[in-house]
Amino acid sequence: MTLLVVGSVAYDDVTTQSGRRMSAPGGSAFYFSISSSYFTNTSLIGVVGTDYSDDDRSILLKSGVNIDGLVTEKGKTFRWKGVYDDTNFNSRETIDTQLNVLTKFNPKLNQIHKKSDFVFLANIDPKLQKNVLSQLDVRPKLIALDTMDFWIDDYKEELEAVIENVDVLFMDENEIKSFTQTNNVITAAKTVRKLGPKIIVVKKGGNGVIMFNQGDIFTVPAFPIENVVDPTGAGDCFAGGFMGYVAGCNDLSPTTFRNAIITASVMGSFAVEGFSTEKFYGITNNDIDDRFRGLSSITSFETLQNNETLPRRTSS
Ligand code: AMP
Repeated sequence: MTLLVVGSVAYDDVTTQSGRRMSAPGGSAFYFSISSSYFTNTSLIGVVGTDYSDDDRSILLKSGVNIDGLVTEKGKTFRWKGVYDDTNFNSRETIDTQLNVLTKFNPKLNQIHKKSDFVFLANIDPKLQKNVLSQLDVRPKLIALDTMDFWIDDYKEELEAVIENVDVLFMDENEIKSFTQTNNVITAAKTVRKLGPKIIVVKKGGNGVIMFNQGDIFTVPAFPIENVVDPTGAGDCFAGGFMGYVAGCNDLSPTTFRNAIITASVMGSFAVEGFSTEKFYGITNNDIDDRFRGLSSITSFETLQNNETLPRRTSS
Protein backbone atom coordinates (compact mmCIF):
# COMPACT_ATOMS: atom_id res chain seq x y z
CA MET A 1 0.00 0.00 0.00
CA THR A 2 1.19 3.56 -0.65
CA LEU A 3 1.57 6.06 2.14
CA LEU A 4 1.99 9.76 1.44
CA VAL A 5 3.31 12.22 4.01
CA VAL A 6 3.45 15.99 3.80
CA GLY A 7 5.33 17.88 6.47
CA SER A 8 8.47 19.74 7.39
CA VAL A 9 12.01 18.76 6.45
CA ALA A 10 14.35 20.65 8.73
CA TYR A 11 17.65 21.34 10.32
CA ASP A 12 17.31 21.18 14.09
CA ASP A 13 19.48 22.58 16.84
CA VAL A 14 18.73 20.46 19.88
CA THR A 15 20.10 20.55 23.43
CA THR A 16 19.35 17.81 25.94
CA GLN A 17 21.14 16.62 29.07
CA SER A 18 23.09 14.24 26.77
CA GLY A 19 24.57 17.05 24.70
CA ARG A 20 23.87 19.28 21.74
CA ARG A 21 23.44 18.69 18.00
CA MET A 22 23.46 21.60 15.58
CA SER A 23 21.97 21.36 12.09
CA ALA A 24 20.79 17.80 12.73
CA PRO A 25 18.46 16.49 10.02
CA GLY A 26 14.90 16.58 11.27
CA GLY A 27 11.43 17.83 10.53
CA SER A 28 8.09 16.12 10.95
CA ALA A 29 7.99 14.48 7.50
CA PHE A 30 11.63 13.41 7.76
CA TYR A 31 11.15 11.61 11.08
CA PHE A 32 7.80 10.15 10.03
CA SER A 33 9.03 8.66 6.77
CA ILE A 34 12.20 7.14 8.25
CA SER A 35 9.91 5.28 10.66
CA SER A 36 7.01 4.37 8.33
CA SER A 37 9.32 3.12 5.57
CA TYR A 38 10.11 0.01 7.63
CA PHE A 39 6.53 -1.15 7.01
CA THR A 40 5.29 0.27 3.73
CA ASN A 41 6.23 2.32 0.64
CA THR A 42 6.34 5.94 1.72
CA SER A 43 6.44 9.06 -0.45
CA LEU A 44 7.40 12.40 1.04
CA ILE A 45 6.15 15.84 0.01
CA GLY A 46 8.22 18.68 1.42
CA VAL A 47 10.55 21.56 0.71
CA VAL A 48 14.19 22.25 1.51
CA GLY A 49 16.56 25.11 0.76
CA THR A 50 19.71 25.05 -1.34
CA ASP A 51 21.68 24.41 1.87
CA TYR A 52 20.16 20.91 2.24
CA SER A 53 22.99 18.40 1.91
CA ASP A 54 23.16 15.36 -0.33
CA ASP A 55 24.12 13.30 2.74
CA ASP A 56 20.84 14.19 4.42
CA ARG A 57 18.88 13.48 1.24
CA SER A 58 20.58 10.10 1.04
CA ILE A 59 19.40 9.22 4.57
CA LEU A 60 15.87 9.27 3.14
CA LEU A 61 16.84 7.46 -0.05
CA LYS A 62 18.70 4.70 1.82
CA SER A 63 15.59 4.15 3.93
CA GLY A 64 13.64 3.60 0.72
CA VAL A 65 11.62 6.81 1.02
CA ASN A 66 10.42 8.18 -2.33
CA ILE A 67 11.49 11.83 -2.44
CA ASP A 68 10.16 12.79 -5.88
CA GLY A 69 7.99 15.27 -3.96
CA LEU A 70 10.86 16.90 -2.04
CA VAL A 71 11.41 20.21 -3.83
CA THR A 72 14.36 22.55 -3.45
CA GLU A 73 13.67 26.29 -3.27
CA LYS A 74 16.18 29.12 -3.26
CA GLY A 75 16.93 30.05 0.34
CA LYS A 76 17.49 28.27 3.62
CA THR A 77 15.90 25.07 4.89
CA PHE A 78 13.37 25.39 7.75
CA ARG A 79 15.19 25.58 11.10
CA TRP A 80 14.00 24.75 14.59
CA LYS A 81 15.86 25.13 17.87
CA GLY A 82 14.75 23.45 21.10
CA VAL A 83 16.08 22.85 24.61
CA TYR A 84 14.88 20.08 26.92
CA ASP A 85 14.51 20.42 30.66
CA ASP A 86 17.38 18.57 32.39
CA THR A 87 15.07 16.81 34.80
CA ASN A 88 11.94 16.28 32.71
CA PHE A 89 12.12 15.07 29.11
CA ASN A 90 8.41 15.76 28.65
CA SER A 91 9.16 19.46 28.95
CA ARG A 92 10.96 21.40 26.22
CA GLU A 93 11.21 24.97 25.11
CA THR A 94 11.22 26.13 21.50
CA ILE A 95 13.98 28.76 21.37
CA ASP A 96 13.65 29.64 17.70
CA THR A 97 11.62 28.74 14.61
CA GLN A 98 12.79 30.00 11.21
CA LEU A 99 10.25 29.06 8.54
CA ASN A 100 12.60 30.09 5.68
CA VAL A 101 11.64 28.22 2.45
CA LEU A 102 8.55 26.81 4.17
CA THR A 103 6.88 30.20 3.62
CA LYS A 104 7.12 29.68 -0.17
CA PHE A 105 6.04 26.05 -0.10
CA ASN A 106 3.26 25.19 -2.52
CA PRO A 107 2.93 21.38 -2.47
CA LYS A 108 2.25 19.81 -5.87
CA LEU A 109 1.12 16.20 -5.95
CA ASN A 110 2.07 14.10 -8.98
CA GLN A 111 -0.29 11.53 -10.55
CA ILE A 112 0.96 8.76 -8.22
CA HIS A 113 0.72 10.90 -5.06
CA LYS A 114 -2.87 11.78 -5.97
CA LYS A 115 -3.89 8.13 -5.75
CA SER A 116 -2.24 7.36 -2.38
CA ASP A 117 -4.05 4.79 -0.24
CA PHE A 118 -3.01 6.35 3.07
CA VAL A 119 -2.16 9.99 3.80
CA PHE A 120 -0.43 11.54 6.77
CA LEU A 121 -0.53 15.29 7.28
CA ALA A 122 2.48 15.79 9.51
CA ASN A 123 3.09 18.89 11.59
CA ILE A 124 3.15 21.84 9.15
CA ASP A 125 1.02 24.89 8.33
CA PRO A 126 -2.65 23.71 8.34
CA LYS A 127 -3.25 25.63 5.09
CA LEU A 128 -0.66 23.40 3.39
CA GLN A 129 -2.24 20.30 4.95
CA LYS A 130 -5.60 21.33 3.46
CA ASN A 131 -4.03 22.15 0.12
CA VAL A 132 -2.65 18.58 -0.11
CA LEU A 133 -6.06 17.06 0.65
CA SER A 134 -7.70 19.17 -2.04
CA GLN A 135 -5.36 17.70 -4.69
CA LEU A 136 -6.17 14.03 -4.03
CA ASP A 137 -8.03 12.26 -6.87
CA VAL A 138 -9.72 9.71 -4.64
CA ARG A 139 -10.51 9.69 -0.93
CA PRO A 140 -7.68 7.67 0.71
CA LYS A 141 -8.56 4.72 2.96
CA LEU A 142 -7.27 6.68 5.94
CA ILE A 143 -6.17 10.26 6.49
CA ALA A 144 -4.36 11.20 9.70
CA LEU A 145 -3.07 14.51 11.03
CA ASP A 146 -0.53 15.67 13.58
CA THR A 147 0.12 19.22 14.73
CA MET A 148 1.79 21.19 17.51
CA ASP A 149 1.29 24.17 19.85
CA PHE A 150 2.75 26.59 17.27
CA TRP A 151 -0.32 26.03 15.02
CA ILE A 152 -2.84 25.40 17.82
CA ASP A 153 -2.10 28.73 19.47
CA ASP A 154 -2.20 31.02 16.44
CA TYR A 155 -3.89 29.15 13.59
CA LYS A 156 -6.79 27.43 15.33
CA GLU A 157 -9.46 28.18 12.68
CA GLU A 158 -7.26 26.92 9.85
CA LEU A 159 -6.46 23.82 11.89
CA GLU A 160 -10.14 23.09 12.60
CA ALA A 161 -10.88 23.42 8.89
CA VAL A 162 -8.51 20.57 8.09
CA ILE A 163 -9.26 18.43 11.17
CA GLU A 164 -12.87 18.19 9.86
CA ASN A 165 -11.57 16.10 6.97
CA VAL A 166 -9.37 13.58 8.76
CA ASP A 167 -10.00 10.14 10.26
CA VAL A 168 -7.22 10.04 12.85
CA LEU A 169 -5.90 12.91 14.95
CA PHE A 170 -2.62 12.76 16.88
CA MET A 171 -2.01 15.32 19.62
CA ASP A 172 0.00 15.30 22.77
CA GLU A 173 -1.72 15.64 26.10
CA ASN A 174 -0.97 19.34 26.63
CA GLU A 175 -1.89 20.17 23.04
CA ILE A 176 -5.31 18.53 23.13
CA LYS A 177 -6.07 20.14 26.50
CA SER A 178 -5.15 23.58 25.23
CA PHE A 179 -6.94 23.01 21.88
CA THR A 180 -10.20 22.09 23.64
CA GLN A 181 -9.73 24.27 26.74
CA THR A 182 -10.33 21.34 29.10
CA ASN A 183 -8.20 19.63 31.68
CA ASN A 184 -9.36 16.07 31.09
CA VAL A 185 -8.22 13.99 28.11
CA ILE A 186 -11.47 12.00 27.87
CA THR A 187 -13.52 15.20 27.67
CA ALA A 188 -10.96 16.63 25.26
CA ALA A 189 -11.15 13.57 22.98
CA LYS A 190 -14.98 13.73 22.96
CA THR A 191 -14.84 17.40 22.01
CA VAL A 192 -12.39 16.79 19.18
CA ARG A 193 -14.38 13.83 17.87
CA LYS A 194 -17.34 16.18 17.28
CA LEU A 195 -15.17 17.98 14.71
CA GLY A 196 -14.88 14.81 12.59
CA PRO A 197 -11.99 12.40 13.40
CA LYS A 198 -13.09 8.90 14.43
CA ILE A 199 -9.82 8.05 16.16
CA ILE A 200 -8.05 10.34 18.61
CA VAL A 201 -4.54 9.39 19.75
CA VAL A 202 -3.30 11.30 22.78
CA LYS A 203 0.47 11.01 23.27
CA LYS A 204 1.81 11.42 26.78
CA GLY A 205 5.55 11.29 26.09
CA GLY A 206 7.32 9.06 28.59
CA ASN A 207 3.94 8.28 30.15
CA GLY A 208 2.60 6.36 27.17
CA VAL A 209 -0.44 6.88 25.00
CA ILE A 210 -4.21 6.58 25.02
CA MET A 211 -6.27 5.93 21.89
CA PHE A 212 -10.00 6.62 21.58
CA ASN A 213 -11.33 4.60 18.64
CA GLN A 214 -15.07 5.21 18.79
CA GLY A 215 -16.16 2.83 21.60
CA ASP A 216 -12.72 1.24 21.95
CA ILE A 217 -10.30 2.83 24.42
CA PHE A 218 -6.76 1.46 24.44
CA THR A 219 -3.80 2.58 26.48
CA VAL A 220 -0.18 1.43 26.79
CA PRO A 221 2.85 2.74 28.66
CA ALA A 222 5.92 3.94 26.83
CA PHE A 223 8.46 1.17 26.20
CA PRO A 224 10.85 1.50 29.18
CA ILE A 225 14.13 3.09 28.03
CA GLU A 226 17.03 3.54 30.42
CA ASN A 227 19.04 6.03 28.37
CA VAL A 228 16.85 8.69 26.77
CA VAL A 229 19.14 10.86 24.64
CA ASP A 230 16.82 13.12 22.62
CA PRO A 231 13.01 12.96 22.40
CA THR A 232 12.84 15.22 19.32
CA GLY A 233 10.79 13.59 16.60
CA ALA A 234 9.55 10.77 18.83
CA GLY A 235 5.97 11.87 18.11
CA ASP A 236 6.59 11.78 14.36
CA CYS A 237 8.32 8.38 14.52
CA PHE A 238 5.38 7.22 16.66
CA ALA A 239 2.94 8.36 13.95
CA GLY A 240 5.18 6.77 11.29
CA GLY A 241 4.98 3.43 13.10
CA PHE A 242 1.20 3.76 13.45
CA MET A 243 0.47 4.68 9.82
CA GLY A 244 3.18 2.38 8.45
CA TYR A 245 1.67 -0.56 10.33
CA VAL A 246 -1.91 0.18 9.24
CA ALA A 247 -0.86 0.70 5.61
CA GLY A 248 1.36 -2.41 5.71
CA CYS A 249 -1.61 -4.48 6.96
CA ASN A 250 -4.10 -2.65 4.72
CA ASP A 251 -6.76 -3.21 7.35
CA LEU A 252 -8.85 -0.83 9.45
CA SER A 253 -10.14 -3.16 12.17
CA PRO A 254 -9.96 -2.26 15.89
CA THR A 255 -7.30 -4.99 16.39
CA THR A 256 -5.12 -3.46 13.69
CA PHE A 257 -5.39 -0.04 15.31
CA ARG A 258 -4.41 -1.50 18.71
CA ASN A 259 -1.37 -3.20 17.17
CA ALA A 260 -0.60 0.05 15.36
CA ILE A 261 -0.39 1.79 18.74
CA ILE A 262 2.12 -0.83 19.93
CA THR A 263 4.19 -0.49 16.73
CA ALA A 264 4.04 3.29 17.12
CA SER A 265 5.28 3.07 20.72
CA VAL A 266 8.14 0.81 19.63
CA MET A 267 9.24 3.25 16.91
CA GLY A 268 9.00 6.18 19.31
CA SER A 269 11.17 4.29 21.80
CA PHE A 270 13.96 3.88 19.22
CA ALA A 271 13.73 7.56 18.27
CA VAL A 272 14.51 8.78 21.80
CA GLU A 273 17.67 6.66 22.06
CA GLY A 274 19.72 8.91 19.79
CA PHE A 275 19.88 12.42 18.37
CA SER A 276 17.98 12.95 15.12
CA THR A 277 17.27 9.51 13.53
CA GLU A 278 20.72 8.15 14.48
CA LYS A 279 19.40 5.16 16.42
CA PHE A 280 17.57 3.82 13.37
CA TYR A 281 20.80 3.34 11.40
CA GLY A 282 21.84 0.51 13.72
CA ILE A 283 18.62 -1.47 14.09
CA THR A 284 17.06 -4.28 12.10
CA ASN A 285 13.50 -5.38 11.42
CA ASN A 286 14.07 -8.13 13.99
CA ASP A 287 14.92 -5.52 16.65
CA ILE A 288 11.58 -3.87 15.94
CA ASP A 289 9.72 -7.20 16.16
CA ASP A 290 11.52 -8.01 19.44
CA ARG A 291 10.46 -4.74 21.01
CA PHE A 292 6.88 -5.32 19.81
CA ARG A 293 6.93 -8.69 21.59
CA GLY A 294 8.57 -7.09 24.62
CA LEU A 295 5.91 -4.41 24.96
CA SER A 296 3.22 -7.04 24.64
CA SER A 297 4.78 -9.21 27.35
CA ILE A 298 5.27 -6.39 29.87
CA THR A 299 1.67 -5.24 29.52
CA SER A 300 -0.17 -8.56 29.33
CA PHE A 301 -2.08 -9.98 32.28
CA GLU A 302 -4.78 -12.60 32.75
CA THR A 303 -8.20 -11.18 33.31
CA LEU A 304 -10.89 -12.74 35.46
CA GLN A 305 -12.74 -15.73 34.00
CA ASN A 306 -16.53 -15.42 33.98
CA ASN A 307 -17.02 -17.29 37.25
CA GLU A 308 -13.86 -15.92 38.89
CA THR A 309 -13.62 -12.95 41.27
CA LEU A 310 -10.81 -11.02 42.90
CA PRO A 311 -9.95 -12.20 46.45
CA ARG A 312 -12.60 -11.14 48.96
CA ARG A 313 -11.97 -10.24 52.58
CA THR A 314 -13.56 -12.87 54.76
CA SER A 315 -15.16 -11.84 58.03
CA SER A 316 -13.20 -13.24 60.96
P1 AMP B 1 8.28 16.39 17.70
O1 AMP B 1 9.42 16.23 18.66
O2 AMP B 1 7.61 15.11 17.35
O3 AMP B 1 7.35 17.49 18.09
O4 AMP B 1 8.93 16.87 16.31
C1 AMP B 1 10.00 17.75 16.26
C2 AMP B 1 10.24 18.11 14.81
O5 AMP B 1 9.23 19.04 14.38
C3 AMP B 1 11.57 18.80 14.63
O6 AMP B 1 12.39 18.01 13.79
C4 AMP B 1 11.25 20.15 14.02
O7 AMP B 1 12.06 20.46 12.93
C5 AMP B 1 9.80 20.05 13.58
N1 AMP B 1 9.07 21.29 13.84
C6 AMP B 1 9.21 22.12 14.91
N2 AMP B 1 8.36 23.17 14.80
C7 AMP B 1 7.67 23.01 13.63
C8 AMP B 1 6.65 23.76 12.96
N3 AMP B 1 6.16 24.90 13.46
N4 AMP B 1 6.17 23.27 11.79
C9 AMP B 1 6.64 22.12 11.29
N5 AMP B 1 7.60 21.36 11.88
C10 AMP B 1 8.13 21.79 13.03
